[in-house]
Amino acid sequence: MSDTVILTLNAGSSSIKFAVFEPGEEPALRASGQVENLSPSQQTRLIVDRDGDRQTADIAANDHAGALAAILDHAEQLFGGATVAGVGHRVVHGGTDFTVPTLLQPDTIAALRALEPLAPLHQPHNLACVEAASAAFPDALQIACFDTAFHRTHPFVNDTFALPRQWFDRGVRRYGFHGLSYDYITSEIARTEPDLSTGRVVIAHLGNGASMCAVRDGRSVGSTMGFTALDGLPMGTRCGQIDPGVLLYMMQHEGMGADAIADLLYRESGLKGLSGLTHDMRTLEASDNPRAAEAIDYFVFRIRRELGGMSAVLGGLDALVFTGGIGENSARVRREVCSGMDWLGIAIDHDRNAGNARDIGTDRVRVMVIPTNEELVMARAVAGALSAAH
Ligand code: ADP
Repeated sequence: MSDTVILTLNAGSSSIKFAVFEPGEEPALRASGQVENLSPSQQTRLIVDRDGDRQTADIAANDHAGALAAILDHAEQLFGGATVAGVGHRVVHGGTDFTVPTLLQPDTIAALRALEPLAPLHQPHNLACVEAASAAFPDALQIACFDTAFHRTHPFVNDTFALPRQWFDRGVRRYGFHGLSYDYITSEIARTEPDLSTGRVVIAHLGNGASMCAVRDGRSVGSTMGFTALDGLPMGTRCGQIDPGVLLYMMQHEGMGADAIADLLYRESGLKGLSGLTHDMRTLEASDNPRAAEAIDYFVFRIRRELGGMSAVLGGLDALVFTGGIGENSARVRREVCSGMDWLGIAIDHDRNAGNARDIGTDRVRVMVIPTNEELVMARAVAGALSAAH
């Protein structure tokens, strides 16, 4: 067993997901877990999964520093006496400049802080976690892994909005997100399906956040998410694509301010808003309320529209990959997305689909279900930085 380990951290507003890897050319997972209910009003819990066993402990922490301190308190259980040599941080926004995993130093952290207005719900928490981890593991390399980086290869037409050019120059661009997930899926395709690695692939990352990415030769040529993580597909609580005229109407005629609109678009819309019930797909699928079915119908409709558009942009399609909590587990969503798509060369085997099999296509286009692994992408980046540093 190695005497050093890699820690990956994925910080949200009230949770931190983490994983511990042994370094190496392909890092090996040793343990994973999360700190949840990270707020003063709730009982915070530390969950650790190791060797198929799950342990849960109530901890006293109400911010990211407290959570990291609790992880350190459980160092023996998590790290088994090994030193944390590198920490990989999921950082949602790298703007136009950060296109590869980057060592976090005071100047890079300051540059990333300047991007907070572009991802107000994620970036401040990511950076709070960077600060806490730098204090908790002062001798470790701290590496930022960006959700936007994978898309920086996309062409100008997918990078811009049709606004006066000064806005593009000021950073009002289509960045795209979920890049760590797309990076993992394309690496899996390259590893297991060499014929497809130069092909035309659409990846649907469908979770609480949802987006799709058009990939050619393993690189992003387009994404449904844009300037923020609001655009494109409807999500658990986010609206997805919306006519900007709706926002003008809300401001000019309904007296709504920016905060109220942000709350509506980020927290009250999507599956939750449409169903009036919940953001959770599994619960919606189990419901017999007609609005639950309408919310799922809208979700599926938008995915199908984007699939058609992306296939046109790619000049055809060789593979469709489903990933994320919904993509990996919802046979119904996959079935409805693929239904009547034979014109595109898509048809699926319903038994294999029901079993979440890896290959569910029966026609010309490969249709695949591949569980994502964003933590491994971060661990690979840290392992690379560690071997470069030695
Ligand atoms: P996040 O974007 O927060 O990482 P996940 O990728 O974990 O989210 O996806 C969460 C979504 O996956 C939820 O809507 C959940 O209901 C859905 N999901 C998980 N398992 C199933 C299932 N068996 N059937 C349908 N939906 C599922």
